[in-house]
Amino acid sequence: MTGGQIGNVDLVKQLNSAAVYRLIDQQGPISRIQVADVSNLAPASVTKITRQLLERGLIKEVAHQASTGGRRAISLTTECSPFHSIAVRLGRDVIEISLFDLSSKELARQSEAFSYASEAELVEGLMLRINQFLAANQSILKELIAIGVTLPGLIDPENGIVDYMPNIQVDKMELGQLVSEEFGVACFLGNDTRAQALAEHYFGVSKKYQDALLVSVHNGTGAGIIVNGQIFLGSNRNVGEIGHIQIDPLGDKCQCGNFGCLETVAANPAIIENVKKLLSQGTTVLLR
Ligand SMILES: [Zn+2]
Repeated sequence: MTGGQIGNVDLVKQLNSAAVYRLIDQQGPISRIQVADVSNLAPASVTKITRQLLERGLIKEVAHQASTGGRRAISLTTECSPFHSIAVRLGRDVIEISLFDLSSKELARQSEAFSYASEAELVEGLMLRINQFLAANQSILKELIAIGVTLPGLIDPENGIVDYMPNIQVDKMELGQLVSEEFGVACFLGNDTRAQALAEHYFGVSKKYQDALLVSVHNGTGAGIIVNGQIFLGSNRNVGEIGHIQIDPLGDKCQCGNFGCLETVAANPAIIENVKKLLSQGTTVLLR
């Protein structure tokens, strides 16, 4: 199929450009020759890709590296400040919006209570708040290139679809596409706990490790698994949904409809409820 082949060629080009950009981002300042060596791309391809990245203003040439004899090479590094992205953390009753540049420096942040009882309310409220945030930060805003949204539930990150949320009914909500159309930039959607695991891997405590497990106890209970430096999604994208593993068949009813899920015991509301119960029974609760 011709269309498919063209698609594949474009995809390969995109992946190669992304690989080169990533190398420059992570290992820069780095010379074109080093990029070709590490990426296993032909030097001519690296020259072409870096020219395109230079033209787009995504990378820049910097001072010469120390000479290793022969001709001195020019190094490349990423250009971070002219490009901005917005990160949204949507909780069950809160929304946090931040503005970042490409070096992941946070430039502005807004956090407020946000209740929504339906898919429509969620979408409307989210768009409104992002628009308000953009308006409030117009004076410092540079070129916006992407919006990332994390939220609780079962998310299909490849297609930007929300399949399940713990607090409202959703029907294959195409949130990624809606946000992308509203703001005219790419939108990346992800499960909050998995995104947190990825953030810890890129910037936090598990930075040094290729394999890591993050367990989060919040309004719910969830886990994010990093394998070989990549977030592990599993075939159903529900790996890490430990909150709904049944641990007590005679336990309390869970938001998901089942009984005795881990979340009915090990999540903030359940822990608070249990402490209150113990206190009312005269038990001394020791908090450490
Ligand atoms: Zn459950």
